[in-house]
Amino acid sequence: MSAERYEREFRQVLELFERHGSALVIGHVDPDGDCIGSMLAIGMMLEAMGKTVRCFAPGDRSELFDRMPGAHLLVPIEQVRGFDHDLVVAVDSPTTGRTENLVRPCADEDVVNFDHHPTNEQYGCVNIVDETAAATTMLVYRFMKTVAPERITAEIADCLYLGVLMDTGGFRFQNTDAEALRTAGELVGLGAHAYELAHDFIYMKRFRTLKLLGTVLDSLELHFDGRAATMQITRAMLERTGTEMKDTEGFVDYGAALDDVELIALFRETAPGEIRVSLRSRNDHDVSRLAERFGGGGHVRAAGLTIEGDLETARRLVLDGFAEMIR
Ligand code: AMP
Ligand code: MN
Ligand code: MN
Repeated sequence: MSAERYEREFRQVLELFERHGSALVIGHVDPDGDCIGSMLAIGMMLEAMGKTVRCFAPGDRSELFDRMPGAHLLVPIEQVRGFDHDLVVAVDSPTTGRTENLVRPCADEDVVNFDHHPTNEQYGCVNIVDETAAATTMLVYRFMKTVAPERITAEIADCLYLGVLMDTGGFRFQNTDAEALRTAGELVGLGAHAYELAHDFIYMKRFRTLKLLGTVLDSLELHFDGRAATMQITRAMLERTGTEMKDTEGFVDYGAALDDVELIALFRETAPGEIRVSLRSRNDHDVSRLAERFGGGGHVRAAGLTIEGDLETARRLVLDGFAEMIR
């Protein structure tokens, strides 16, 4: 991403931040590290500017995020509904639907949209959307560095670093480009705790989470002569191990670790009759297109969708989709 590309938009966002007294910062359902990092970094900047701020993302989140600086800004839904605000900032959300419609397209109120999904619907009054960025926090960093570098505290640097770390899979995925590494380096220079964040969010696992991983790996299957792989997580597996679905972040990457596998699907029984599917591609097969067929979305190599039905139905639909792509 060229530094100049969003210069004008960055000034517009700063102007909105300065003009308004209160802001709601919203992320996508079941927020990940990039989403939380973007929300808290923006939240802390606004707080330091003397604004009233609340941050919220629907669904479940790992309690690990409560350790992040700025986590005090995360509020329960009840405190979102009654919150009188004059600015909405959406992060890491390609559509307003991903925020469960807490964000509405730009009309009566000012909406800023920071995102890196190619499927972004440009619903903001100001849209900072760059699919070449490995993480949304890289766009937030670019914004802060351009308009208010003095505001990037060590706490904000931690939050921005978390997004780059998590969305590049600990600097392993194909999106780990020069800018991602440069951004990470600059953030460490500004005080981000690279070791502690990698330890807490990638390396460290609780005993029960590893036990669950054992059963999930046991469900691993190959299809189409080893060109595709599937894994699954049922409610029963969670109950047996005393875990929750939010503990399964990153499990899909174990399937993607298989040599020669091109397409990977992880099926998660999020509720009876509801299967959440995570898709990964190891080459240029575009899994976001398959996800979109079922109302989901994402990136070429990482996408997600939800299927109403049982595990068998979901497996059949996705494997049929894989068959078409591999053929
Ligand atoms: P996941 O499998 O949940 O890790 O998601 C993989 C990628 O796809 C992430 O970048 C998500 O933000 C994106 N994604 C997942 N589900 C959806 C959806 N329903 N709509 C749009 N993007 C999605
Ligand atoms: Mn995300
Ligand atoms: Mn992201």
